[in-house]
Amino acid sequence: MSGIRYRGRFAPSPTGPLHFGSLVAAVGSYLEAQSRGGEWLVRMEDPDPPRVVPGAADRILATLEAFGFDWDGEVVCQGRRAEAYHAALHALRKLGRIYPCGCSRREIADSGVAGLEGFVYPGTCRDGLAADRAARTLRLRTDNEVVEFRDGLQGRVCQRLADDIGDFVVYRADRVFCYQLAVVVDDGAQGITHVVRGADLLDSTPRQILLQRLLGLPTPTYLHLPVAVNESGEKLSKQTLAAPVEPQDPLPALVAVLRFLNQNPPEELAEGDIAGFWRWALAHWDPSALPPVRIKRVAG
Ligand code: GLU
Repeated sequence: MSGIRYRGRFAPSPTGPLHFGSLVAAVGSYLEAQSRGGEWLVRMEDPDPPRVVPGAADRILATLEAFGFDWDGEVVCQGRRAEAYHAALHALRKLGRIYPCGCSRREIADSGVAGLEGFVYPGTCRDGLAADRAARTLRLRTDNEVVEFRDGLQGRVCQRLADDIGDFVVYRADRVFCYQLAVVVDDGAQGITHVVRGADLLDSTPRQILLQRLLGLPTPTYLHLPVAVNESGEKLSKQTLAAPVEPQDPLPALVAVLRFLNQNPPEELAEGDIAGFWRWALAHWDPSALPPVRIKRVAG
């Protein structure tokens, strides 16, 4: 991996077609990588088989291609990376940082304290599973460490993981590796140096940095773009069934993304062709104009 100074990536989850919110992450990460002479990889984040929609990965890739994205190397699919995740889990277990947990969501909600993302795990199974309980998950033990980093757009982020998040799940009894572990293992294995993605993952980053430290992996540079929300403040995600971006009509969506990212595209850009769009976008890409907010409304 020596000599690589910038390797970025786009990591969509194949739980539905590409929508405006994920296109923002795709365009932002792509232009950042391109403007710095870097590489840009695509990875399918599908570690959770029940959530994967058949055909969605191919559809996303076809849309990216139709939109003129040009990625480096093979597309990695998390579904085929179980061995690497097992090895990481094993390493964490050897460090004494993993324990089985038998608590249901309900039990955690009943006894937990609200944290940054739902309830903070109260630590019920930390010192061993009660004899009558079966493990539902494996959790990572958070100690008193404070994780701090400077995001390229959102500024300083600081979490005391034990209080803000609590011991978090890395593996489920239905044999699913959780996102936080999988993404850290994959970013490490692919030598990702820069992560540009949606700010809905800003609060996940300290967990990922902790895992990187424990696994001896380097920490990439992070830049979290605003999450696109509609007029009623709902995230434009597959879950809210936001209109998918149409592969047959890329330019209006691409221009809308540049506008969302305060890049000031001229109206005529939507009437040209894809090659012309990317030429303009790359020549005028200005990270200092990006909106430094976590959430931004998409103008209707
Ligand atoms: N798979 C996540 C998503 O589609 C992105 C994860 C990441 O970029 O780390 O929102």
